[in-house]
Amino acid sequence: MNTILVVGSVALDTVKTPAGSIADGLGGSATYFSLAARYFAPIQLVGVVGEDFPREHRTLLTERGIGCSGLKTAKGKTFRWSGRYGKDANNAKTLATHLNVFKEFRPKLEDAHRKAPVLFLANIDPELQSEVLAQMKSPALVACDTMNFWIDSKPEALKELLSKVDVFFANEEEAEKLAHRPNPLQAAEVISSWGPSVVVIKKGEHGALMKVGSRFYIFPPFPLPEIKDPTGAGDTFAGGFLGYLASCGVYDDVGHLKRAMAYGSVMASFNVEDFSTRNIENLDRDRIDERFHDLLDRMSVPRTDELLKSRRVVAA
Ligand code: AMP
Repeated sequence: MNTILVVGSVALDTVKTPAGSIADGLGGSATYFSLAARYFAPIQLVGVVGEDFPREHRTLLTERGIGCSGLKTAKGKTFRWSGRYGKDANNAKTLATHLNVFKEFRPKLEDAHRKAPVLFLANIDPELQSEVLAQMKSPALVACDTMNFWIDSKPEALKELLSKVDVFFANEEEAEKLAHRPNPLQAAEVISSWGPSVVVIKKGEHGALMKVGSRFYIFPPFPLPEIKDPTGAGDTFAGGFLGYLASCGVYDDVGHLKRAMAYGSVMASFNVEDFSTRNIENLDRDRIDERFHDLLDRMSVPRTDELLKSRRVVAA
């Protein structure tokens, strides 16, 4: 099985949505990613928390099989993020970002971690993302994510990082801002010219786009009547996507990449059905695969020859 090494934030999030609120809930980009990707492949998490990080959160991660030897505890407070969602679940309004222990964090990878075949640089300071990448032996696949906070504060460091990654995930608004383009297709065009051979642009409840080579592929979301908390949708999408590819050990085949997009949608859809990480803590592979097949079924449009065949069966 191909291990995924993830570096990113492990956080305490305070979130308000039209469906309710939560204070200091377990969150962070690496947390959401790991809890989703572990259904597919072994995960090693690299990050830092403060002395105030509740013991039960670390226990939850280790009990779910996530390798936490790279999750350090430093003097000071855990990274905190607070945000609010209005009716538009696609865009969080960030109310506060307190980097706390992340200000001093300089990740030093263990030998075993450097050999991981898949690396996910989850949303975190792009300079830290580059420091981790520089320590890797020769990963088969490197993917990264980011958010507005870093696009605004460190655009050059981010561009430099992108020249070295294979897969880039962004939401529509972030991609347009980063590339200075008015729509996601143009933004993906520009971003892929900087390096990534695969660019994934998420459009929340409107689905996602994937650019591979010169071709764009379109994907609908799994339809949900209610979204309770969109936090972590992007990271759980990346978790399903990379987890699936790591489980196959195939990273450059369009068919596998399309299935990875569907698993990404499925994991994100489970995540947004409840606050914090509650819903992705206790899934199982059967439930995930059931929703995956349900999504494939809803997505597929029969070609004319298949349609004629099925009409004949109905008529017979
Ligand atoms: P997502 O909704 O998938 O984009 O990611 C949400 C997670 O990102 C939350 O759990 C936050 O703790 C975390 N987060 C928010 N802002 C930052 C930031 N500037 N750097 C790293 N992680 C962040």
